[in-house]
Amino acid sequence: MRELGRGTGIEDTLLAGERYRWLETGPIRRRYAAPMSSASSAGSVEHPFVSRTSAVLSPFGSSVFTEMSLLARKHGAVNLGQGFPDFDGPDFLKEAAYRAIRDGYGQYSRSFGAPDLNVAIADRFARDCGLRVDPDAEITVTCGCTEAIAATLLGLVNPGDEVILIEPFYDSYPAMVAVAGGTVRPVTLRPPHFSLDVDALKAAVTSRTKAILVNTPHNPTGHVFRRAELEAIADLCERYNLICIADEVYDRLVFEGEHISIATLPGMRERTVTLSSLGKTFSFTGWKIGWAIAPAHLTAGVRAAHQFLTFCAATPLQMAAIEALRTGAEYDRQFIAEYRARRELLVGGLKEAGFEVFAPEGTYFVMCDHSRFGFEDDLAFCRFLVREIGVAAIPPGSFYCNRSEGRKLVRFAFCKRDETLNAAIERMRPLRSRLRSD
Ligand code: GLN
Repeated sequence: MRELGRGTGIEDTLLAGERYRWLETGPIRRRYAAPMSSASSAGSVEHPFVSRTSAVLSPFGSSVFTEMSLLARKHGAVNLGQGFPDFDGPDFLKEAAYRAIRDGYGQYSRSFGAPDLNVAIADRFARDCGLRVDPDAEITVTCGCTEAIAATLLGLVNPGDEVILIEPFYDSYPAMVAVAGGTVRPVTLRPPHFSLDVDALKAAVTSRTKAILVNTPHNPTGHVFRRAELEAIADLCERYNLICIADEVYDRLVFEGEHISIATLPGMRERTVTLSSLGKTFSFTGWKIGWAIAPAHLTAGVRAAHQFLTFCAATPLQMAAIEALRTGAEYDRQFIAEYRARRELLVGGLKEAGFEVFAPEGTYFVMCDHSRFGFEDDLAFCRFLVREIGVAAIPPGSFYCNRSEGRKLVRFAFCKRDETLNAAIERMRPLRSRLRSD
């Protein structure tokens, strides 16, 4: 390997075959970017301080969520990109957090979670899906679900293992598979229904497959996996002794159909790591309280990584989370009613503007096809939308191994106040005039 730090184009060496794509704020290296001409590649780095980002992470560049939120701010755009509410979570939870700080919960908690929180998570899981788990042996509290994803993959995947990811995927999944030394095998969900192609899933299993990661309800497509789809995944897990990693952070956000935890399927409790968090359901994405529920033999791996990643999540927020999880059906009823109204509002507005809209069955995202407006791809459309129309959305290309799979698509988030959604709808109205007649 060449010596680092001399501005010799080391990134080219390390990223052999990788190319840059530009969104706007400079070069964003895309792990799966379409090749560009070599003249525009990174060979001309002249700055003496070349990037020291590790070879395994530098191909992933900076996350599309960070990029789009920066661009939204720069252009004064209405931000329907990154999925965070632009309203506050409930006051009773804030009060619980103030109280926990006042009452002296200022030190580390037990690494795998404040004991009462683990109990509250176990109770909630039992109430939601009927499975009773041991709060001390089978639950690990993490800094949001993103850390739970990292701890699970780092703690359970060995170099050379393959992990099946259902794409489009949350961009932290492939990054963490790569850090673990594993390889991604993608299985693609396609519009209009984004249903699982069971034959493609079967074909993705090899002798090296370690795990299948399924996210239901699914970000960004809004697909809620049917029992038959989950049974197909379960069947493969049983047949080939695979681990199932189930990211269920949007479990409360279901508008059509029902959420099924795959751990409840016969034989799956013993091979599933169920991940979830507080952020979506209680509108406090910045609190970063998440968890992983898994049988002890899998929890051991999750904890082996978690202890060195963060050791523990913020103690006063864990204490407040206990109160959140003890809320009853009334909170859930109101929560889903509010989101149903936001979904109707944005879906209606996007149709009015001329998009082909794939109304989501769950989550707070909606995918659309923008191709009627005549742009080359998702990046070109989102760049135009943020600069000229003043609305930030997410170009979904970076949620695919082959980013061209997402080129006709755009993702909008509707976890926003009505006035924000209405402002975005108003700004997008002129798009109609750009509709191609063909
Ligand atoms: N999951 C969120 C989204 O899809 C983003 C989370 C993050 O930015 N860390 O918008």
